[in-house]
Amino acid sequence: MNKIQSEKLEVDLITPKAATVDQIASIHGRRYIDQVRSICEEGGGYLDLDTVLSRDSYDAALMAAGGTIAAVDAVLDGYNSAFALVRPPGHHAMPNRGMGFCIFNNVAIAARHAQAKGRKKILIVDWDVHHGNGTSAIFYSDKSVMYFSTHQFPHYPGTGRMTEVGSDGAQGTKVNVPLPSGTGDQGYLMAFRQILKPIALEFRPDFVLVSAGHDPHKADPLGGMKLTSSGFGAMAGVVKEIADICCQGRLAATLEGGYNLEAQAEAVVAEIKAFQGVVPDVSGLDLSIAGRIEEVKKVQSAYWSCFG
Ligand SMILES: [Zn+2]
Repeated sequence: MNKIQSEKLEVDLITPKAATVDQIASIHGRRYIDQVRSICEEGGGYLDLDTVLSRDSYDAALMAAGGTIAAVDAVLDGYNSAFALVRPPGHHAMPNRGMGFCIFNNVAIAARHAQAKGRKKILIVDWDVHHGNGTSAIFYSDKSVMYFSTHQFPHYPGTGRMTEVGSDGAQGTKVNVPLPSGTGDQGYLMAFRQILKPIALEFRPDFVLVSAGHDPHKADPLGGMKLTSSGFGAMAGVVKEIADICCQGRLAATLEGGYNLEAQAEAVVAEIKAFQGVVPDVSGLDLSIAGRIEEVKKVQSAYWSCFG
């Protein structure tokens, strides 16, 4: 918030409401929701080795989901784009299990909310350094939700191979681009321009969501990637182009990981500027990534005519 204010970005602030249990239950089992609430009521505990609950975590998680829902509603009410600056993150959360710092899957809950409001096909773009195994699992056999992820591989949580394409008629709607550690702006932009954009234009989403994790930033202590803040802005620019072409620019983003707060703030500002039409120029190619791009295209060419 300080960075947004010091950069004098032209934004309106929206006060979110906590998500209702029914909204959370569009994705998560009611027993799991009750379990989280009761652990918090008893003062806290662990969902897994690295997912800690404190007394206030249940309320914070409801607000994070509610904030992401509010971002969707703002866009459906006429804003071009909205950004939910929320924690805890969500993309590792499974229907009946929290993990990887995630309690409820904010972006998945927001996708179902957009669908409940009449937007049939949803594109979720996840550039967090980790694969969003929860989001992928939730929609794995659902062809109405495309999930595109770039992530460091091999890395936590171990999923996100390019052959994970979806199942039961939803093949091709899960697009995984595992990238080697050290990938920077040019490599990421190649994946966005050469894989995401053509597939997304063929999928034709009615609404676009972004799982905006900032742990692939070069200054992040957990990730091993080399993205700069401008690189995040450039990726946001590609996503904005897709939304402009397919769905009148309708686009909402939510935070995922990101553990260097200064880097995260700078990247968020670059992304908001890109959503407003000011996109950093990240040109050039990273030839070390070219082989991986071709491999993903080959896998996805079974489902999308854009790759011949
Ligand atoms: Zn992450």
